[in-house]
Amino acid sequence: MLVDKYNRSFPYLRLSITEVCNFSCNYCLPDGYKKTGAEHFLNQDEIRRLVDAFVELGVWKIRLTGGEPTIRKDFTEIAKMIGDRPEIDTLAFTTNGYRLKERAQEWHDAGLNAINVSIDSLNAKKFHAITGHDRMQEVREGIDKAIEVGFKDVKINVVLLKGVNDDELDNYLEYVKDTPVSVRYIELMQTGDNLTYFNKFHLSSDTVKDKLLAQGWVENIRALGAGPAANFTHADYAGSIGLIAPYSKDFCTNCNRLRITSSGDLRLCLFGNVGIPLRHMLHNDDQKGDLVAAISKQLDYKASSHFLALGDTGIMTNLSSTGG
Ligand code: SAM
Ligand code: SF4
Repeated sequence: MLVDKYNRSFPYLRLSITEVCNFSCNYCLPDGYKKTGAEHFLNQDEIRRLVDAFVELGVWKIRLTGGEPTIRKDFTEIAKMIGDRPEIDTLAFTTNGYRLKERAQEWHDAGLNAINVSIDSLNAKKFHAITGHDRMQEVREGIDKAIEVGFKDVKINVVLLKGVNDDELDNYLEYVKDTPVSVRYIELMQTGDNLTYFNKFHLSSDTVKDKLLAQGWVENIRALGAGPAANFTHADYAGSIGLIAPYSKDFCTNCNRLRITSSGDLRLCLFGNVGIPLRHMLHNDDQKGDLVAAISKQLDYKASSHFLALGDTGIMTNLSSTGG
């Protein structure tokens, strides 16, 4: 297992397979994804070699992300290739849900067993205004389908936005009353691109925490090796609420993940200042030893924390480019 000098272990890899996205979320790609002409994302062989190396290093959870990962024509094939590996216990993906209703069964059959769907508002008009797409109902139906086909872990990502969706906690609570999903409020993060937006819309998730505690929700003790989210449950509710607060004091203490960008750079931290190119070690299967050694060595350089509170967002311009 990969362990760094702060005694954090890394069983979890977030693998971005594309930067392309069809949505234009205000906080991420407000003008939509603009083709650069240089799109040359990891191919299936490269992904397989990466997965091989990370499995050897003890990774048992992989999340496919992007951009919008399901936009790739070979998304199901990629999932199947990873899902067939017995060492991978959890194969997750994060999606805006635009094809979920039609494809949930196919993706589950391919081996995906955990899913995060972004749905920043349960109000159709607001959802449209945030994402640029009038598709809230369709995405919700996709979530129902994911539950129906047997995804064992269904999470809903909600980026908390001051004055936009911070009045919707009751709607999400009503939703999780009978629906066995975890709604995860993510604090808006500053990126290289969104400073003005961030200053206007960032809100601490403490506001949500206070309301939950006042209504009898209980913060669960974090399981060993669990990620940075704080989870809240309530006996009367089928679902749960999670809070992801990257600006909180101990957020990085629980870091358990590494990232690979869609062009094959290793990122030790979402907000780090370097990307370590691995692609030149993905040309053939014989390079596995070098690849494993390079990844292990880089862990020595993983910092104890990000410097977000100082406004240092590292080299990340937006989350679609790094893999959210
Ligand atoms: N396209 C997929 C989606 O939206 O679910 C996957 C990629 S997206 C970058 C992953 C997650 O990052 C989404 O839940 C999105 O809402 C979140 N995200 C993007 N930019 C963010 C930001 N600046 N602060 C907080 N969360 C952000
Ligand atoms: Fe696309 Fe996801 Fe970014 Fe929204 S958050 S623009 S869906 S990559």
